[in-house]
Amino acid sequence: MRRIDYHVHTSLSHDGTWSPLEMIRCARERGQAVLALTDHVGPSNVEPVLEALRCERGAALAWSGIEVLIGVEITQVPAARIAEVAHRARRAGAEVILVHGETLSEPVEPGTNRAAIECPEVDLLAHPGLLSQRDVELALRTGTFLELSARAGYCLTNGHLARLAREAGAMPLLLLDTDAHRPDDLIGAEHAVRIARGAGLSEEEARQVVGENAEGLLARVSDRRS
Ligand SMILES: [Zn+2]
Ligand SMILES: [Zn+2]
Repeated sequence: MRRIDYHVHTSLSHDGTWSPLEMIRCARERGQAVLALTDHVGPSNVEPVLEALRCERGAALAWSGIEVLIGVEITQVPAARIAEVAHRARRAGAEVILVHGETLSEPVEPGTNRAAIECPEVDLLAHPGLLSQRDVELALRTGTFLELSARAGYCLTNGHLARLAREAGAMPLLLLDTDAHRPDDLIGAEHAVRIARGAGLSEEEARQVVGENAEGLLARVSDRRS
């Protein structure tokens, strides 16, 4: 099973210190197949961050064996302005668009989860915290992926999300990402499966999340390219 991670930060994020090329190189050394660089953005930096990521990714094309996607994590943007920033991100070339969800450990405006799910440009709602059943059902209709997180603090509600997704028939929407801010945060596919099982998923469900579901979003990204 290939390891695909859709949530990774670099020095283009205020809380990251490793350059995009450093993160790409380290992920490649660890045998990761696909890496999406998704730095924190808001209204003032969405275009420049994507421009910088595109430039760094271009340099990394010299290295075989890893596919790099460029994207953003829309972070702490008022719910009413998320769609606008998401549209600008897409126009600026974002291949993957995440919204920083209502995690318990870093509070964002209530309503952020709903705004992310309702925006057709948003691919993935990251660490949604105590997501409501209504929002899971909405995500099923919009096809918004929902994130189980390997990150400390953000992982506290993984069990809640797994249970809700199973009850709503939304298992195909679950992904497991690291939200890595440094190379040591990156994990392999088998470890990702173990973390998904820790959220209460069966071995089979956990493999679906880490394998099939992650490949599903990748197919959507390449459909959009062509
Ligand atoms: Zn961060
Ligand atoms: Zn993040």
